[in-house]
Amino acid sequence: MRVYLDHAATTPMLPEIVEEMMPYLNERFGNASSLHFYGEEAKRALEESRATIADLINAEPDEIYFTSGGTESDNIAIIGSARDSKRKHVITSAIEHEAVIEPIKYLEKEYGYKADYLRVDEYGIVDLDMLESVVDHNTLLISVMMANNEIGTIEPIKDIVKIAKRHGVLVHTDAVQAIGKIKIDVKELGVDMLSASAHKFYGPKGVGFIYVKRGTPLLNIIFGGGHERGMRSGTENVPGAVGMAAALRYCYENFDALEEKYARWKEKILNTCEEIGDYRLNGHPTNRLVSTLSLGFKGVNGESLMQALSMNGIAVSTGSACSSHSSHRDVSRILRAIGLSEDYAQGTIRVVTGADNTDEQIDYFIQNLSRIVRKLRKMGECRS
Ligand code: PLP
Repeated sequence: MRVYLDHAATTPMLPEIVEEMMPYLNERFGNASSLHFYGEEAKRALEESRATIADLINAEPDEIYFTSGGTESDNIAIIGSARDSKRKHVITSAIEHEAVIEPIKYLEKEYGYKADYLRVDEYGIVDLDMLESVVDHNTLLISVMMANNEIGTIEPIKDIVKIAKRHGVLVHTDAVQAIGKIKIDVKELGVDMLSASAHKFYGPKGVGFIYVKRGTPLLNIIFGGGHERGMRSGTENVPGAVGMAAALRYCYENFDALEEKYARWKEKILNTCEEIGDYRLNGHPTNRLVSTLSLGFKGVNGESLMQALSMNGIAVSTGSACSSHSSHRDVSRILRAIGLSEDYAQGTIRVVTGADNTDEQIDYFIQNLSRIVRKLRKMGECRS
């Protein structure tokens, strides 16, 4: 059996979404900027996709800009808002994705910005008192993610917006992990900018969008032919946009059914962890994405557990590996930031369920998890 439980890394494309994209990979291949009927056809599909996405998140179509994904959307929000600003201070959290951390480091290094990295508590919730104490008249932007990719904790974005608005500060949220799993209403949320990426919610890779509230002072960071109203030059990825809109529609239409499944699987998995014993569910106990489970097992090496599961056809990721691209394997900075003790952090795996999973797959996973954790613990005992 093959069981994919790594839906925070990427998701499979559902057949109905591939089907909606297919005409734009085949006969309707036109460039959306062309003035003939091929171009018109492509342009119409692009604008319909924009309108669908805007409608789902309660934005206006002209507030949606297509990008190549989450990383690019985050870069546009951070570097694009800083390009023409007199304010030289930005605030983020200690548990952001590199797609936010790295452009902020770039502003610090190249543009002399000051950056504050908000502490988080043991559950991964940002410290709002610290935010109150560091925000001032020189602050341009607060960028805090909506939900964390490793531990699934949901951040208090509405409270952050309230604080920001008192100081005339822009708010950006990286909603890459949240969108499709949390019903987002940008007007209610009150953020100025929001990043999303299609491949995290059953759409294609290499396409995403940034929501930019009307009137937000934001400049482009990519220069060229002036596509996307000058915000993002480059021939538009029409099949990508069509697939992304179809995928987001799928998530919103199936929201309750998916939530119910994820909650049921979470219960099942946590019951098994209780039986196994000596484990931690990292992140907030309730204020979290139900499908993202960061599980730390004492006395086990997370990487060995991940490898053993993989050999049995089950794909999870290690929460303890700093990054698969890093040569130095270390406890993740997210687990460090929440103060998780070394023995649980070293034994952490991330299990993320998705729309394509089945009850049989979850049963197969929990049987293997139980067996392998016990076996690895025994082997550890024999060695020591
Ligand atoms: N932000 C978060 C929270 C993520 O989890 C990811 C991907 O893992 C990204 C940004 C980057 O998105 P993309 O892969 O679309 O560039």
